[in-house]
Amino acid sequence: MDEVGCVVVGAGVVGLAVARALASSGREVLVLEAADMIGTGTSSRNSEVVHAGIYYPTGSLKARLCVAGRDALYAYAEARGVPYRRCGKLIVATDATQIGKLDALKAKAEANGVTNLVRITADEAMAMEPKLSCVGALHSPSSGIVDSHALMLAYQGDAEAHGATVAFHAHVEAGEVTDRGVVLDIGGAEPMRLRCREFVNAAGLHAQDVARAIRGLPPATVPPTHYAKGNYFSLAGRSPFSRLIYPIPEPGGLGVHITIDLGGQARFGPDVEWIDRIDYSVDPRRADGFYGAVRRYWPGLTDGALLPGYAGIRPKLVPAGAPDSDFVIQDERVHGVRGLVNLYGIESPGLTASLAIADAVVDALATAPAPVPA
Ligand SMILES: Cc1cc2nc3c(=O)[nH]c(=O)nc-3n(C[C@H](O)[C@H](O)[C@H](O)COP(=O)(O)OP(=O)(O)OC[C@H]3O[C@@H](n4cnc5c(N)ncnc54)[C@H](O)[C@@H]3O)c2cc1C
Repeated sequence: MDEVGCVVVGAGVVGLAVARALASSGREVLVLEAADMIGTGTSSRNSEVVHAGIYYPTGSLKARLCVAGRDALYAYAEARGVPYRRCGKLIVATDATQIGKLDALKAKAEANGVTNLVRITADEAMAMEPKLSCVGALHSPSSGIVDSHALMLAYQGDAEAHGATVAFHAHVEAGEVTDRGVVLDIGGAEPMRLRCREFVNAAGLHAQDVARAIRGLPPATVPPTHYAKGNYFSLAGRSPFSRLIYPIPEPGGLGVHITIDLGGQARFGPDVEWIDRIDYSVDPRRADGFYGAVRRYWPGLTDGALLPGYAGIRPKLVPAGAPDSDFVIQDERVHGVRGLVNLYGIESPGLTASLAIADAVVDALATAPAPVPA
């Protein structure tokens, strides 16, 4: 049977960042990806926003890894020529009852180490963005946008430059924990069995499926799976705004916001639609809800201007109505299997935090050392 030092399942932005970090640390790394290219999952179905780290519970992995990952991401993008723009963002209150929520968000951000948020008046906000309507806002100068595909290509390039291999059409179907590592059954184009000493499960929406298929990994340690779809609508023509515009957050998501891409196009979303199975279609009728939400802060949105765009799915660990869960980076201390790390619930801000998540995985493997090769 073939043996490899370390297997990473999934070539999304997180799996590739992990592969890069592990390969850079001198490990032999093989990335197994079921699809025929990198980034076909959630990593190409998001807002491409570099989050500042405002919203998350203080001390949570989301809060800590977002702040650390954001700084690392900007530095990395600059050094590696990955297109990005620190365009800034406005979080807007659209009626007087929301003003207190702006202050609460600013206080939470400060507790999270995001100390550069500025509370601005409606006039100041509208001077920055003349098409905007609001009664007050927070300006976040360190929020921005990044070309997520270029970022993934850069991670892949770094990993490969350190000797890693990315195998496509390589669906991890099952596995078994043994004394000398995890033995994997890989289907797809060239079915094979493979033993690895270290195993990182970065399969995104399918991370729980992969974990459940590994004999010897206690099933009770695998969290439940829930899907919260986020639908996007695009706007014909140029963006009316030069910054990201966010309303006050809503349960399950950040509210229907306006993001811009590096080409200057605007998109609206994501909303929150709880679903039972993976389905990326966008129901054009959901535009009705978008018009109302967006016109609260952009009254100039004309009828018929929104076109169905795309959708992404949040890998939730809790059902609708429950308080959001944190990222889970699960190692031997929880499941008892040496050299194995499961990544669960890596929803937003997973893109922003990708480099910091990768560092945390390397730390988790160091804390829980891999089996010694026979
Ligand atoms: C609507 C939405 C908007 C978001 N917006 C932002 C944002 O603006 N900023 C931000 O920071 N974050 C954002 N996020 C979060 C971010 O997109 C994710 O955290 C990140 O993309 C997750 O990457 P991943 O590599 O874990 O998962 P994925 O990109 O889903 O990659 C998982 C990979 O695993 C592969 N795979 C699955 N099962 C198997 C198997 N058995 N064998 C082999 N391969 C397998 C899949 O094919 C896939 O390629 C958003 C998320 C959503 C849903």
